[in-house]
Parts: sequence; C-alpha cells; structure tokens
Amino acid sequence: MTTPTPSPRKIVLVTGASSGIGEATARHLAAVGHHVVLGARRVDRLALLVKELTEAGHSAEHAELDVTRLDSVTSFADAALARHGRIDVLVNNAGVMPLSPLDALHVQEWNQMIDVNLRGVLHGIAAVLPAMRERGAGHIVNIASTAAYRVDPTAAVYCATKFAVRALSEGLRQENTAVRVTVVSPGFTQSELADQGGDVRAQSAARAATEQIGLPASAIAQAIGYAIAQPDAVDVSEIVVRPTVQN
Ligand code: NDP
Repeated sequence: MTTPTPSPRKIVLVTGASSGIGEATARHLAAVGHHVVLGARRVDRLALLVKELTEAGHSAEHAELDVTRLDSVTSFADAALARHGRIDVLVNNAGVMPLSPLDALHVQEWNQMIDVNLRGVLHGIAAVLPAMRERGAGHIVNIASTAAYRVDPTAAVYCATKFAVRALSEGLRQENTAVRVTVVSPGFTQSELADQGGDVRAQSAARAATEQIGLPASAIAQAIGYAIAQPDAVDVSEIVVRPTVQN
C-alpha cells in the first residue's frame, strides 16, 4: 500500500495519541506533511512527542483530552477549529481492552469500554461533524478491530464496542455524502493495549500473542495515511490490517 504525497497539508486530529497506534499515526502523518493535533490524558507523553516532531521540522500540537467526556472532546475540536479554521480529518483512535469472561462480572470495565471505545467515538463525531457538514468536506477515521468481525471468549464486551463502531460508521457514511468515513480494523498490533486491567490470564494471553505476532503500530498508521491521502471523491470505507499468521 503506497501513500502518495499528501496535497494539500491537512489538519488532522488524533485521539489517544500518547502511545501505540495513535502515536505511530501522529508520527506518520506529521512526517508526510500534515499538521497533527494530538489528544490523550497523559499530556506529558504528548508534550514529548510534539517536541520531538517539531524539532524534526514537522508540525504538531497537543491538548489534554478525555474522550469519555463530551465537553472535553468538544473543547479539543473547537480549539483546533478556532486556530486553523478547519478540521480536515479526525482519527477516533482512543481505546481500551480489559479482557475478562462475562461471568467474572467486571462491570466497571465493561462500562469503561463502552465509555471510551463507543461513546468516545460518538463524542468525536459530535464534535466535528457540524463544521465538516457546513464546509461540505471532512474525513472521520474510526479505529475498530478484527474484533469488529468476530467474537472470542473474554472479549465479548470489547467486540460489542467494536462491532458497534463499524455499525455507526456505516450509518455515518450513508448519511453524509460530503464527509468521508473510514473504518480501520487492526489485528494484533504492538502497543500498550493489553497492559491495563482485565482478567490476568486473558490479558497475559493477549500480551503473549501480541509479542509473538503483533504488527508494528506503523503498519496501521500507514493504512490510515493511505485512506487520508485519497482524493476527496474516493471514500476508503473499510481497511482490515492483520498479521499474515493471525487466524
Ligand atoms: P494503547 O493502549 O497503546 O493506546 C490507547 C490510547 O488510547 C492511549 O493513547 C490512551 O491515552 C488513549 N485513551 C484511553 N482512554 C482514553 C480516554 N478516556 N480519553 C482519551 N484517550 C484515551 O493501544 P493501541 O494503540 O493498540 O489502541 C489504539 C486503538 O486501536 C484502540 O481503539 C484499540 O481498540 C485499537 N486496536 C488495537 C489493536 C492492537 O492489537 N493493539 C487491535 C485492534 C484494534 P491516555 O491513557 O494517555 O489517555
């Protein structure tokens, strides 16, 4: 998959840019000439990344962002809109994956996955869609997963949120002929995703699989870059990128 030289430079917002796929996406999009606006809760990490990118001659800024709060996402988007006059692309990437069997009743973590993976994406859409519709242009890239296509034990709630992201992305695409919508669905990818919460056995199995076969996060960043680089009339609706050996 080749990413053509972008033209023109786009204003791209990335949620969850403090590690993993979001961080790799920030690096890739900045390196190909876009201006990246990076959001996450760990602002210290974002500040270091922005420093590194700007010292390398790229264009980047950051802000604190909690996608579970509509006001936080709206402020993040409104500030970028005020500063740059437009938002060309939103990459709804922030996500969490505390895996556990349903009968373990990790209800708080179920709600966290719904809040971050599903509500967070909806908050992102709410924050940018009005301005994109008014301008008659824009692109929303939602990060789902291969877990949006199949269900596995311990991943029921995670899969439910990712199936939902695919469903709402399809609805968003159908309702908007001027705004491009892309779902990017990674398979096992090296990141911090399996490091937090969940059931010990389920999380260590996910970590082991990622260590054995996980793609570098840059592979997903390049797929996102490919979708963004297409002409306005071309909507890349879905991309699935997984390790060749993943079943
Ligand atoms: P990481 O854990 O490395 O990154 C997750 C990012 O989400 C972090 O930057 C984190 O930042 C951010 N985040 C979490 N909660 C919030 C919140 N409430 N508000 C704002 N940001 C938040 O994992 P990945 O890079 O792997 O995950 C990125 C996306 O890719 C997720 O949607 C994930 O589901 C998806 N994915 C990943 C796969 C993989 O194998 N790695 C496979 C399939 C899909 P902070 O904590 O600083 O807020």
